[in-house]
Amino acid sequence: MVSGKTIQEWGREFPLLKNIMATEEVFWRNPKYRAFEQAVRTISLGERDVKEAEERLRRFAPYIAKVFPETRNTNGIIESPLVRIPNMQRRLEKMFQTNIEGELLLKCDSHLPISGSIKARGGIYEVLKHAEDLALANGMIAIGDDYAVMASEEFRQFFSRYSLVVGSTGNLGLSIGIIGAQLGFNVTVHMSVDAKQWKKDLLRSKGVTVIEHLTDYNKVVEEARRQSAQDPTSYFIDDENSIHLFLGYAVAASRLKQQLEDMNIVVDEDHPLFVYLPCGVGGGPGGVTFGLKLVYGDHVHCFFAEPTHSPCMLLGLMTGQHDRVSVQEFGLDNKTEADGLAVGRPSGFVGKMLEHVISGVYTVDDQTLYRLLAAMVDTENIRLEPSALAGVAGPVWLFRDLAGQTYLEENDLKEKMKNATHIGWATGGSMVPKDVMDGYYREGERIEKELGDCFPQG
Ligand SMILES: *Cc1c(COP(=O)(O)O)cnc(C)c1O
Repeated sequence: MVSGKTIQEWGREFPLLKNIMATEEVFWRNPKYRAFEQAVRTISLGERDVKEAEERLRRFAPYIAKVFPETRNTNGIIESPLVRIPNMQRRLEKMFQTNIEGELLLKCDSHLPISGSIKARGGIYEVLKHAEDLALANGMIAIGDDYAVMASEEFRQFFSRYSLVVGSTGNLGLSIGIIGAQLGFNVTVHMSVDAKQWKKDLLRSKGVTVIEHLTDYNKVVEEARRQSAQDPTSYFIDDENSIHLFLGYAVAASRLKQQLEDMNIVVDEDHPLFVYLPCGVGGGPGGVTFGLKLVYGDHVHCFFAEPTHSPCMLLGLMTGQHDRVSVQEFGLDNKTEADGLAVGRPSGFVGKMLEHVISGVYTVDDQTLYRLLAAMVDTENIRLEPSALAGVAGPVWLFRDLAGQTYLEENDLKEKMKNATHIGWATGGSMVPKDVMDGYYREGERIEKELGDCFPQG
């Protein structure tokens, strides 16, 4: 029994479940998708919350610029490039024999300063918020002060009386660890079995305590939460439930809007925007989606991407059971090379909050991720970690799958697709050591060659 029904009963209700359980690549159109004006009525967060997060990041900008010199050319604002990838678009069309109408862009969160992944948005934001709360409560600063003073020894001494604890598959730990240690906090990162060795090594080199677990993400978060609760000076960054992380991610939207305007790319009724977001527990893609919907309403269409072995958000949304179901209960092993997405049970609030807002979810096989990784290097010379490629498959799946075509028809988009902009959200990769990246690339090349041998061209 899974959440009150047998697997057979779930399967009768949702025929796609058979394909999901067979770890096939699938595309799911969300039948509960609604006009945003209607959907937003049940959402407790709003524009003011995102604005507040944006303003907090602006208050911290002088501090960030001071301690992370790589952010000086953006005056301490942590932001990533948005680039056109026409060569990759053509390669995708060829690889998967589909026509991608509109233009494909890449949002390079892989190249966010400080920690090289989307977690440099939510993760760093939540630590800064906690630091500000502590400093304000103890009369160390006032709003309006120059926060660059937080780089002083006095502040580092102050923050060293407090701890931060987080459970992670790698990248969240990296973000919390780097910013936390920089401020002076005692940071403990609990790493799941999927976490890559280089991420642990890097954190230890910064004085972060790394605890390695043999269990998967959700178990690790549970254990980290339990340990943190025993220490009153400890603050737990709760990836499964945190509104602050979510809001930190949401700030991406107004920044993206500016970037699109600077590139003369129009988004309106006749020029739809499609965004494809790799999803783990859901906070990152959920926050970005929420922010984008506040900015563009029904003109933006957000799809989440998950590994075929870890489709937790897909199962949660499709069954309507959200965090009450896990991929393991449906016979899946949650084993994937996409470490950032290796999550078996979705967030406790993201799916519920956005159940009428997310356009759909699709899954990607690890082999496809490696093929896309190598293709991205060959065509655009951009190096990403496997998780980050999940977003790039989006436009192919949308045009190739029947459910994708239905989505376009139902939303009156067919005629507008020649004016569409597609953004693959590249969620991580610039900090991957060269030898590890070379290994990924060779794996992608190997798989491509193997497939080529099976299906010789011409
Ligand atoms: C964490 C992460 C994601 C997804 O974010 P969630 O908040 O876990 O859904 C996607 N890609 C990479 C590389 C990540 O590290």
